[in-house]
Amino acid sequence: MQIWAVANQKGGVGKTTTTLALGARLAADGARVLLIDLDPHASLTRCFGLPTDPPPVGSAQLFDDPPQPLRELVHHSEYERLDLVPGQAALAVMEKRSATRPGLGLAVKTALASMQDEYDYALLDCPPTLGVLMVNALAAADRLIIPTQTDPLALHGLDGMVRTAAMIERSRGGPLPVFILPTLHDRRTRAGAETLTQMQAHHGKKVWDDVIPLDTRLRDAALVLSAPPVDRGGKGLAAYASALQWLLQHERQQVAA
Ligand code: ADP
Ligand code: MG
Repeated sequence: MQIWAVANQKGGVGKTTTTLALGARLAADGARVLLIDLDPHASLTRCFGLPTDPPPVGSAQLFDDPPQPLRELVHHSEYERLDLVPGQAALAVMEKRSATRPGLGLAVKTALASMQDEYDYALLDCPPTLGVLMVNALAAADRLIIPTQTDPLALHGLDGMVRTAAMIERSRGGPLPVFILPTLHDRRTRAGAETLTQMQAHHGKKVWDDVIPLDTRLRDAALVLSAPPVDRGGKGLAAYASALQWLLQHERQQVAA
């Protein structure tokens, strides 16, 4: 199983959209995919039309003492090979609990190890805060995907996220390759183009050399899964399909190395 964390300390940058678009594409191409919603806002869970308050069971139960087994938390979606562990508002409490329970930072990693052979990919949708939930995702991940908007303010957040990844990499003692995906890109603005150039100058090959464009078909309402997400067309989903090729190419190189 390959574990990809999708994270950025900034909100509204396309984390949830990226998790869903990449996960749905992987599943449509034949991979067995588990999405885990680790955000108390549970936007990903809402995309599947599941109630979020009160939700059935979900990722918050991974932090119970003792934790509930991961397989009991999996919701099989109506799409083949695309499963979800829902997120719940109760996740917000975990951030506070972290100080009092040692080992809580490895809850997600330990849970995923128990289903290692049942999925090809697990994609972790993170909250926009550097707390125990994000730390869990980064501790478990084989790679980190950072969606980031191409506006000047986002650059600051991106630098912060890259530093966080480096810190986690040191503390866990293993590489955490970073992949930066420029999202919500408006080709008509000069600020967008300039920010992209700066991003590439600063972060080099970590940055995908294309962009996910603004596309109304990726907006909230459109995201609610009434049709298989990969069949809906549009330049946004097409861009995610080619971003996935970039990510998979790196994976092949990693395996070959
Ligand atoms: P995050 O998870 O980082 O908070 P979301 O994925 O929820 O970000 O995206 C924030 C908002 O922008 C949502 O309303 C989403 O539907 C919308 N959105 C995301 N990507 C695009 C895009 N490429 N084009 C247009 N709207 C988008
Ligand atoms: Mg989100």
